[in-house]
Amino acid sequence: MKIHEYLAIDLFRKFGIPVAGGRIAENVSEAVAIAQEIGYPVVLKAQVLVGGRGKAGGVKLAKNKEELTAHFNQIKNLVIKGYSVDKILIVRALDIKKEFYSAVTIDQVKNDVVLIASAEGGVDIEETAKSHPEKIHKYYFHGHNEIDLKRWPPFIKAVFPDPTLQEPATKIFQKLSNLFFEYDCSLAEINPLVIDHKGELYAADAKINFDDNALYRHTDIQFLRDMKYEDPDEVEAKQNDLSFVKMEGNVGCIVNGAGLAMATLDIIKLLGGEPANFLDVGGSSNPKKVLNALRIILQNKKVKSILINIFGGITRCDDIAMGILQARKELDIPVPLVVRLTGTNEKEAKKILAENNINTFSTMREAVQKVVELAK
Ligand code: GDP
Ligand code: MN
Repeated sequence: MKIHEYLAIDLFRKFGIPVAGGRIAENVSEAVAIAQEIGYPVVLKAQVLVGGRGKAGGVKLAKNKEELTAHFNQIKNLVIKGYSVDKILIVRALDIKKEFYSAVTIDQVKNDVVLIASAEGGVDIEETAKSHPEKIHKYYFHGHNEIDLKRWPPFIKAVFPDPTLQEPATKIFQKLSNLFFEYDCSLAEINPLVIDHKGELYAADAKINFDDNALYRHTDIQFLRDMKYEDPDEVEAKQNDLSFVKMEGNVGCIVNGAGLAMATLDIIKLLGGEPANFLDVGGSSNPKKVLNALRIILQNKKVKSILINIFGGITRCDDIAMGILQARKELDIPVPLVVRLTGTNEKEAKKILAENNINTFSTMREAVQKVVELAK
């Protein structure tokens, strides 16, 4: 889950990371009132959960009320990567001398948490990583939740050669990593971390991503999700206890078990098809789940055919068959269904389906071949 910058800033404050003061404005008069309170110049920042906001014109400096009004209206009318701007953050403008990049994140290859920092901030860090990898510095946590000050000096000296900045920067990095670990983040990024002309460090931007699987532990964070950025089908699937991920293709899939679901996607691709989704109905055999799954898949108008691939263990094939019949009764299913069932109560299931003119396949390959052919 991602949260907006103005909410991430609140968390930064909570952890003692210095930020420029400011608040959110939904209209011009609110923006003017905030600017008057904090004093000009101010920076206006579109609150959108996509990257490249500054480049898209979503971050602007205003020296007076006239500029503020003009920029506010301009930003409010922007569409950034398909998203309109609902809220604009008004913050005190920092008198920036230099920008740094910094982030705590997970290195999936090394299986470790890493703090990444660079004196080349503000710009695309991916670009710097490619063109000047020597300018990106990394500190690995080695499985610990805190910075080990014994291993720390080479890293902090590389990023901040100026000794007067090393101590305040260390404090910020300690706080950023505290936030990262305490909230089960997948990313806590400050880009840019800036130094102003008085020599003070500030987080001039704030980006925090949370591990969805750990959100149940953070009741104060869960409700910060902006539903505008969620796929409505994925939300509905979650409410119905289905693991569902939307994809780009046109072959819908209903599978039991995450492993079999992944294998099914692979075989669809192997046989020349494109899956429309990942969907795991789970181990229980509630016919209602098949009904819900079909309903959600059919909301995607790209879907041309649907594969139901069940390996019955705890899941009983006859329950799945009943679910398919129920769905046919309650839903309008305008695309062909291809069913492959094997395992517990397979015979009963095939009988039920045959009586209702639904063909079944015993092997995964035959079924996938058929469903891919029907989607073409
Ligand atoms: P992003 O494009 O979404 O990453 O937006 P940022 O909040 O990082 O802002 C983009 C750029 O705007 C920064 O790299 C800065 O150069 C500039 N900027 C942001 N805040 C301030 C500020 O308070 N003062 C000044 N002078 N520039 C700012
Ligand atoms: Mn930024």
